Amino acid sequence: MSTGDRKPFVGGNWKMNTDSEGARALIGGVGGIGGGDAEVVVYPPFPYLREVAADISSQGSRVVLGAQDFRHEPNGAMTGCVSIDMLKDCSVSSVLTGHSERRHVIGETDSLINAKTKAALDAGMQVVLCIGELLEQREAGQTDAVNERQLRAGLEGVDEGSLDRVVIAYEPVWAIGTGKTATSADAQDAHAKIRSVLASMYSKEAAGKMRILYGGSVKPGNAEELFSMPDIDGGLIGGASLNAEDFGAIVSATRASIKRG
Ligand code: PEP
Repeated sequence: MSTGDRKPFVGGNWKMNTDSEGARALIGGVGGIGGGDAEVVVYPPFPYLREVAADISSQGSRVVLGAQDFRHEPNGAMTGCVSIDMLKDCSVSSVLTGHSERRHVIGETDSLINAKTKAALDAGMQVVLCIGELLEQREAGQTDAVNERQLRAGLEGVDEGSLDRVVIAYEPVWAIGTGKTATSADAQDAHAKIRSVLASMYSKEAAGKMRILYGGSVKPGNAEELFSMPDIDGGLIGGASLNAEDFGAIVSATRASIKRG
C-alpha cells in the first residue's frame, strides 16, 4: 500500500498532569516543533488551554491545540461539562474520543463515544478516535475483534467526506502507562487489520489515506522502530509527552515513517 499521502501525526496527551507553570514550560519546550513534516498536537488539561493557546500564538508555533474531552451537547444545563463551542473559543481544533481511561475508568460506552465523535466532526473539529483491547481480551485472542467493534461503533454514521479529519489511535490498554509496548510486528499486524476494516467500511482509497497511530508507552528509544512500520503513521504519547526533550525526539522519529512513502 502506498503511504505517501499520510502526513505523520504525533499527539501529546498530558492527561490530568502539570500545573500552570508546568504547562507553560512544556509548550515553551515543544513550541518549535511540528508543522513541517509532521503534524503535532498537544492535549493539555482544560484549565491550561487558554494560556497554552496564547503561548502557541505568541511563539508563532505550528503546534496545534487539542482537548482531551468535551460534552457533545450544545451549551446549556450540564453542570461541570465543557462544550465544543467552549473549546473552539479557546482555539482548540482537535479532540480525543474513546481514550481507554474514559472507556474503562470513567465508563464511557461505544454509543457515547460515537455521539462525541459525530458532534466534534459536525463542529469542524479533528477527532482522534482511540481504540484498543484489554489484556484479558488480548490473551483470549480477541484483539482484532475488539478493534473492529470499537471502530465500527465509534464511526457509525460518519461519512467518508469527514474522514480527512479522523485519525485512529490504536492503544492496547495493557501498554498504556505501563512501560510495556506491543512489538513493532504485533502493532503493525493490528494496524493493517484496522486499515482493512476501514477499507470495508468506506473504501480502500479512503482507508489508505487515514492516519493510524500507535499509543502505549512510546518513548524516544522505541518510537523509530514502531514508526517505520508501513501502517503506523505516528503516535499518541502520554507519559513521554510531559518531557519536552523526549517528546521532541519522538516527533523527530516520525522521519522513519516519511521515508517509506
Ligand atoms: C496515552 O495516554 O494515550 C498513552 C499512550 O500513554 P503512555 O504513552 O503513557 O502509555
